[in-house]
Amino acid sequence: MDDERSAPAVRATMDGMELEQALHAARALVLADLVADEVADAEIVSLVEDAVSHRRWWVEQWPEGAEFVAGLIAQDVQDALLERYGRWPLCPVCTTSGDPHALDVEPELGPDPHWVCPKTAVAVARVGRLRAPLET
Ligand SMILES: [Zn+2]
Repeated sequence: MDDERSAPAVRATMDGMELEQALHAARALVLADLVADEVADAEIVSLVEDAVSHRRWWVEQWPEGAEFVAGLIAQDVQDALLERYGRWPLCPVCTTSGDPHALDVEPELGPDPHWVCPKTAVAVARVGRLRAPLET
């Protein structure tokens, strides 16, 4: 059938759109957390853009990783910020100890990433909901 011949092309286009959607959603989540912490200046937004374009290449090589890009981009931005800005995001749980530390993204490579305190193992928020009211 003629339909079968055209099907792979349609499928490839759909995958491309899904990848773009995953990248777009990841970008929005990480930006939301940066805005919530009021660190989203122009230079830092360009760090996010760099991370997104790097992960676009990555996810094109490995489309199954599309649902992991939000956590990965969050970690990329975190690493880039550490060099230029400092630790981010700071842990809101351990405010009484003298040395503020950053939250970790967990899982490092998996869907539905959260910001987690590495000392107390408290999951502070989902990536994208950093300073949002706690979900019930
Ligand atoms: Zn902590």
